[in-house]
Amino acid sequence: MVREVLTDDEGLATGVSYINKDDRQEYELKAKVVVLAASACSSARILLNSKSKQHPGGLGNSSGVVGKYLHDSTGASRSAFIPALMDRKLYNEDGTGGMHIYFPWWLDNKKLDFPRGYHMEAWGGLGMPSYGFGFDPNELNVHIGKKVGGYGDQLRKDVKSFYGSTVGISGRGECIAREENYCEIDPHVVDEFGIPVLRFNYTWTDHEMLQGKHMHDTFEEILTAMGGVLLGTKPGKEDDYGLAAPGRIIHEVGTTRMGNDKKRSVVNANQQLHDAKNVFIVDGGPFVSQADKNPTWTILALSWRTCDYIIDQLKKQDI
Ligand SMILES: Cc1cc2nc3c(=O)[nH]c(=O)nc-3n(C[C@H](O)[C@H](O)[C@H](O)COP(=O)(O)OP(=O)(O)OC[C@H]3O[C@@H](n4cnc5c(N)ncnc54)[C@H](O)[C@@H]3O)c2cc1C
Repeated sequence: MVREVLTDDEGLATGVSYINKDDRQEYELKAKVVVLAASACSSARILLNSKSKQHPGGLGNSSGVVGKYLHDSTGASRSAFIPALMDRKLYNEDGTGGMHIYFPWWLDNKKLDFPRGYHMEAWGGLGMPSYGFGFDPNELNVHIGKKVGGYGDQLRKDVKSFYGSTVGISGRGECIAREENYCEIDPHVVDEFGIPVLRFNYTWTDHEMLQGKHMHDTFEEILTAMGGVLLGTKPGKEDDYGLAAPGRIIHEVGTTRMGNDKKRSVVNANQQLHDAKNVFIVDGGPFVSQADKNPTWTILALSWRTCDYIIDQLKKQDI
């Protein structure tokens, strides 16, 4: 478990210090180049814990931006019971809708009351090996005026009849990166290895809330047009329009943002620290923004490009 990046008198990295999880002792690893890929928040944590005379606010943090502009995708969901899908022929639908079917963003957001957009993921179907219908059959009986309750053959018949008749839609959208959303070192709490942990400050603004509202209006429109009976209740403003809490969609990025201006960013276009040219970050930290789609392919693409750059720089003996 890495505690910090070690630096020399010139402020360049010389390696890392880490706690061995087996003997709980601290060790040092020497390196010419340090590449952090601990995920957006953990890399920010390592940098913030790497304080020295040359980097008093933490390594790479002369701008004060490390940890800031943290952002996660927005997310909300709704499901419905679709009577037209009852009493279906049963067959293996694995691979069809087992995970979800993706719909890209389809509107011109200039005409809407929130910036950017979101995609939708529809889910449902006869997911194997799970068996059943996802809900208490009595709950679904209510919607079609059937007798509530039952045992034995009647219950078995109901289970088969309802199996595969509930579907849902989830939205995943773009959140606006803001300086006010950040993680920082908690001065009072350390983990089991004695390493200071992060604490988080994060709120949704109207941008995200109005997007959540639009998601729910759209889910209802589609599911109702399918003849569906909406399940659960539509969340209102008091419930942040059903937006999952920040961090729940697990697409956290932005904590070590990329930019040309070293006063306003942490890494350059090669994901190289402005403040220490032999330290690189190859996780979601350098993202300045994150479109609605999941981040990992972009993390991998940027990481690949950075690896090529590191090889090139080592050959030229520039780092
Ligand atoms: C349940 C789940 C589902 C997801 N689904 C998708 C999806 O469908 N599509 C998509 O694009 N993204 C998805 N994501 C997001 C995706 O997992 C992340 O974007 C991606 O893993 C980030 O890659 P990373 O290499 O930056 O970090 P990680 O994959 O988190 O790897 C970081 C590694 O660093 C280690 N580490 C952290 N701190 C330290 C330390 N101090 N010392 C030593 N090691 C350390 C960690 O143990 C970990 O092994 C999902 C995430 C979750 C949790």
